[in-house]
Amino acid sequence: MPQMQRNAVRAGHVIAFQDGEHRHLRDGIVVWQGNEIIHVGKEFDGELHAVRDAPGMIVTPGLINTHAHLSESPLDKSFVEDRGPRQFYLSGLIEFLPARDGAITQEGRQASIAFSALELVRTGTTTIMEIGAFGDAVIDVAERSGLRAYVAQSYRSGRWYTDDGRSVKYQWFEDDGRAAFDAAAAFCEANEGRADDRIRTFLSPAQVDTVSGELLKRSRAAATDLRVPLALHTSQSVPEFTEIIRRHGKSPIEWLHEIGFLGRDVILGHAIIVGGTSWANFHADDIGILADTGTNVAHAVWVFARRGIAMESFSKYLARGVNMTIATDTCPQSMIEAMRWTAVVSKIMDRRTEVATARDVFNAATLGGAKALGRDDLGRIAKGAKADMLLWDKAGISMAPVRDPIRNIVYSAQSEDLHSSIIDGRWVMRDRQVEGFDPHALAGRLQNAAEQMWGGMQKGDWAGRNIDELSPESFPEFRP
Ligand SMILES: [Zn+2]
Repeated sequence: MPQMQRNAVRAGHVIAFQDGEHRHLRDGIVVWQGNEIIHVGKEFDGELHAVRDAPGMIVTPGLINTHAHLSESPLDKSFVEDRGPRQFYLSGLIEFLPARDGAITQEGRQASIAFSALELVRTGTTTIMEIGAFGDAVIDVAERSGLRAYVAQSYRSGRWYTDDGRSVKYQWFEDDGRAAFDAAAAFCEANEGRADDRIRTFLSPAQVDTVSGELLKRSRAAATDLRVPLALHTSQSVPEFTEIIRRHGKSPIEWLHEIGFLGRDVILGHAIIVGGTSWANFHADDIGILADTGTNVAHAVWVFARRGIAMESFSKYLARGVNMTIATDTCPQSMIEAMRWTAVVSKIMDRRTEVATARDVFNAATLGGAKALGRDDLGRIAKGAKADMLLWDKAGISMAPVRDPIRNIVYSAQSEDLHSSIIDGRWVMRDRQVEGFDPHALAGRLQNAAEQMWGGMQKGDWAGRNIDELSPESFPEFRP
């Protein structure tokens, strides 16, 4: 083991943790040794290897992004926007997902994962939860990029499809998804604690309507045995909500509660179409069940708001005592945008300004995520916590003037204002440069991958429509 050096950053503003909450420390110093913070305060007497003097910077905890699909999210761009079929209650899941997924090549997945790692670091994510089915490739890029990652290998009992553009049908696999589940559990055992424990795992049964009750119960038991978190897409569309009522006579969250699935180690994405809200128009206290069972919600505001769907409401879930976390899900994979839209959309839904505050959404993006993962050493700048920190430049055109740094970050910051990122004690980004990642080369790779995907979409679409029929461009082509 090399001698672990003590490093420090001295900054004009530090968002430090004290007595159970974030506090604003002016002109503070944060010292870390190896991957652990060993001191936070005004001064430090001990010996230091390297000190970064940054009077013009704001140091905050890194952001925890609890729901992402690195292998596909950048490929949502330039295609899914402005599209949301009314016959599926605005959800794009039933038509667009199958059309797109079959058209992404293996190289396209790799290009998307590498691009995503760069995008995530540049926009403030220090811990990522990867929900999808390309775990090995995500682990590889997490190891190279320096991201802290929770990675799963998703599985399910069947899949949905449509063959007429208005009804949702299900095709069930012969083994109920058992082989994929076994592989996912083996994936956890093989990868838990890699990269000096920077990489961990979890179980990700895909969706509440595509995983059988039997496989969900098996997943619940395995998560307890393996001591890993458990994630599930739930209450993410009206068709899914009504399908579970058709099958079980209960809302999805009521049903998950009945089969013993919910709990403090469970993170539901997205829990928006829930009983007790106008989206579901169904009498059930789903939000109360989430609160009472300690179940966590991964709130990815943008993937819904983009289509005209909004949680009713982030602030009401918080007030009821649900542990809320923040996630990006689709593109842009920016936690800055995710915090901002969460705050603003909740205010709109509530017709109130003083709810879903900068404090609330920043807490959700840090302490909320840490709680969902069962970690008291993440999401905070405190002695004993992991050294995951962001340095924000306070002098940029969108940042100045700074009085309350968290309000500036939530309501005004752009990714250019994020100067540097330290993850697990290592400078993963310095002055907006992520070591080992070439933005131009990655964008070129992604463009090629997207063009291949756009060209192949009619194969997976039930009606054989091409990209321009599925998603016409904003303006027609100019004809010289
Ligand atoms: Zn998802």
